[in-house]
Amino acid sequence: MLIGAHMSIAGGVYNAINHGVEKKCTAIQMFTKSSNQWKAKTLQKEEIEKFHELKERTGMFVVAHDSYLINLGTPKKALLEKSRAAFLVEMERCDTLGIPYLVMHPGSHTGAGEETGLDIIVDSINWLHERTEGGQVMICLETTAGQGTNLGYNFEQLAYLINNADQNERLGVCMDTCHIFAAGYDIRTKKAYNNTMKQFDEKIGIDRLKVFHFNDSKKDLGQKVDRHAHIGEGFIGKEPFGYFLNDKRINKLPFLLETPKGEDGEMDDINLNILRSLIKK
Ligand code: MN
Ligand code: MN
Ligand code: ZN
Repeated sequence: MLIGAHMSIAGGVYNAINHGVEKKCTAIQMFTKSSNQWKAKTLQKEEIEKFHELKERTGMFVVAHDSYLINLGTPKKALLEKSRAAFLVEMERCDTLGIPYLVMHPGSHTGAGEETGLDIIVDSINWLHERTEGGQVMICLETTAGQGTNLGYNFEQLAYLINNADQNERLGVCMDTCHIFAAGYDIRTKKAYNNTMKQFDEKIGIDRLKVFHFNDSKKDLGQKVDRHAHIGEGFIGKEPFGYFLNDKRINKLPFLLETPKGEDGEMDDINLNILRSLIKK
């Protein structure tokens, strides 16, 4: 199974794979560039080759996450242009590195209203797809907690984006357990889990799911606040992660932690072991 965590690229993008190997991950998530800067240092041939070599040798499944500065739903023209250009660079970097999925937060309307924001995001997706025709990377819309003016906090909004975007066969979804829970989708019992997945399937279609972010939540159901907790230490609890891991419809997909790492990443070991222990043989 594909289980892992978000890993740092400090010192070179291939280091994310090295960290994954250290933690016995079969999948990792990484940024393709510094996540809190607009500028991207061009990837050097040597770094690219080393990344490919390591990825092939270890069989690591790699997912990318976009920079936090990017807002593809902003009504501010200058920021929108900057965001689209930066996201395009990230898509290109994914293709260069052979990364199949680029997870992104759909965007924030910052006061312009939800409908306006959603339509700006659709335009952004179209803008990007137009410029990456024939590209391999798939944009994966992440479910959000609905904090502030963040969009994509319910399945209807994600369905709207997918249904209205051009080339929407190139769109997938990343489900974040903390985010859906904070947004009001209960998963704490098997029955609640089944109901949430049923809603997802009806509104979006389970086939759209490509990636999972596994985080417990420091905030209770429906609080719309995005605070990740260690697995089993939040309001979701340990057991529900087993519902995902043992669901045959989705258990070939990558499950990735975005939880605090602690010293030397020791918390990754603990959280990963909990996840592994929940898999039924
Ligand atoms: Mn995210
Ligand atoms: Mn996430
Ligand atoms: Zn989050």
